Amino acid sequence: MAKHYCGHAGCRTLIPLTQHYCDRHKHEENSRRYFHRKHSGGKYEAFYQSTAWTKLARQYKVAHVLCERCLSRGIIRKADICDHIIPIKTDWDKRLDWNNLQSLCQNCHNEKSEIEVAERKNK
Ligand SMILES: [Zn+2]
Ligand SMILES: [Zn+2]
Repeated sequence: MAKHYCGHAGCRTLIPLTQHYCDRHKHEENSRRYFHRKHSGGKYEAFYQSTAWTKLARQYKVAHVLCERCLSRGIIRKADICDHIIPIKTDWDKRLDWNNLQSLCQNCHNEKSEIEVAERKNK
């Protein structure tokens, strides 16, 4: 079977092509994956810093000063964050869709993020 060197810099242990690291350096696999995840998040981070988004979010917050989630429960609370109803990680095309936005207070935003994380874990 074809073999290659372990992915650890300087390690000359030969391992099967299906593996990236030898047993001794296996733990590096995790940080590698972590790096990839972080890296793929760059697109979203860049978007949140883009002028198109900051402008839109500002406009939306001016139009919706109160937290919409609290409002639906009869609570009047100032909104802190302009949030995507459908997360841009789920539907990238809706990132600048006015109808996909909602104003949330910090509390509601945290709550929503927690639910999203929980839902993702259930999948
Ligand atoms: Zn190694
Ligand atoms: Zn709220």
